[in-house]
Amino acid sequence: MSNQKTELSDLGEFGLIKHLTNKIELQNESSIKGVGDDCAVLNYPNKRVVVTTDMLTEGIHFNLMYVPLKHLGYKSIAVNLSDVYAMNATPKQVTVSIALSSKFSLEAIEQLYQGIHLACQHYGVDLVGGDTTSSLTGLTISVTAIGEVDEDKVVYRCGAKPTNLLCVSGDLGGAYMGLQLLERENEVFKVDPNMKPQFKEYDYLLERQLKPEPRRDVIKMLADNNVCPTSMIDISDGLSSEILHLCEESSVGCRLYEDKIPYHPNTQDLAQEMNINPIVAALNGGEDYELLFTVDIKDYERIKNNPLITVLGHITEAQEGANLVTAGMGKFIPLEAQGWNPMMNKIEE
Ligand code: ADP
Ligand code: MG
Repeated sequence: MSNQKTELSDLGEFGLIKHLTNKIELQNESSIKGVGDDCAVLNYPNKRVVVTTDMLTEGIHFNLMYVPLKHLGYKSIAVNLSDVYAMNATPKQVTVSIALSSKFSLEAIEQLYQGIHLACQHYGVDLVGGDTTSSLTGLTISVTAIGEVDEDKVVYRCGAKPTNLLCVSGDLGGAYMGLQLLERENEVFKVDPNMKPQFKEYDYLLERQLKPEPRRDVIKMLADNNVCPTSMIDISDGLSSEILHLCEESSVGCRLYEDKIPYHPNTQDLAQEMNINPIVAALNGGEDYELLFTVDIKDYERIKNNPLITVLGHITEAQEGANLVTAGMGKFIPLEAQGWNPMMNKIEE
């Protein structure tokens, strides 16, 4: 790849938009009109439509010292699609709005859009619009995702009932450990720019942090098995705070068993190496983008031993509270909402 740098001012706003969007081919029936008019036009007969937005800001949500722009583009789409899947819906369209400072070249923004287009292609969504503006300092990306779901299949946070099983997809704490690794190597790099990063065998953790995948596969698996969750949320801020959201919205309590929390071996290894208790990474770390959901106990036979999910515990009456049941001692510890605060990493710098 050449190191050519084209100033954004050479293209102007309209030239840039055209450059970034001229190859888009709409792939969904519901996308009637995409980029190029005052509005996109969508068609959703007989469906519920879900809409979600997330904004990512340089220096708060990402650090361009170690986040490649292509990954950032991919992730900015992925995190929004995760919210759509968390409603048991299928994402169909996104809009992407960006604020850019003059430090970004056209080539840099092309990389960002490569990641955006890749995620759109992979998850079958159409990029149908957005906005482009300038900023004084860094980069801000705001993505809106739109999805569809049958009226009787929408899953809210508020549907959990006592005796429901509490389930989670994948494994937890990996994205947080990936971030710790990137921060550690970034500190080393700041002291000696000739040092090569020591990522060793931790590729999985880097991928969890830099290139999260929303769990379309889990939504499909549940549907294929005729299981409709009673409540669901995606894990962006850590298991603890997401469980509390489900319990609060559903007016229930829960028992979460410590020894059921699923970890990838890399998460445990790096946690040990860095003297971090992996349960802290799972409960209070962020950005795993797994799905946390509850199912009726009668569905247990249909989900047990499924490799995509783990049963973590069960829902109780509200007055029991939301508790972690410790391994071994079986002590009840009330869960606390120490959700992951993206500012934490900033302050620590
Ligand atoms: P308007 O003046 O109506 O807001 P714009 O000039 O901002 O129109 O945008 C022109 C078209 O390009 C619109 O269809 C808009 O949705 C789309 N667009 C603008 N910025 C982006 C972007 N960053 N990514 C994708 N589409 C964009
Ligand atoms: Mg505009």
